[in-house]
Amino acid sequence: MRYCTRCRRLFDGPECPDCRSLGRTPRAEDWCLLSEEPRVYCDMLRDVLEQNGIPSVFAATQGGLGLFSNVNMELYRLFVPYPRLEEAARLRAELFSASLPEEDADGAPSEGGED
Ligand SMILES: [Zn+2]
Repeated sequence: MRYCTRCRRLFDGPECPDCRSLGRTPRAEDWCLLSEEPRVYCDMLRDVLEQNGIPSVFAATQGGLGLFSNVNMELYRLFVPYPRLEEAARLRAELFSASLPEEDADGAPSEGGED
């Protein structure tokens, strides 16, 4: 696993698939690209990360990439520290595998009502 300091992402293989940089060994202080999300998902994800004690930073991109290319929507790149990347990726998968809430899902789900 290598780390590209230009793209701030991890990659396998001999060079960064985005910029052809050779990268270097990742370090604990490196911010690593977790994902690109529309703003609303970015905010949700940051909330979840914060609740789990994972710091994150985000940066706006010029929209319209890949999956969202047909949507006029600005994307945000979300970065987490290298040591927390795996955990953050798992939390993201859990968050987005659940049905996305329509609005703020702050209300605690009722627990133990059904059998
Ligand atoms: Zn790169």
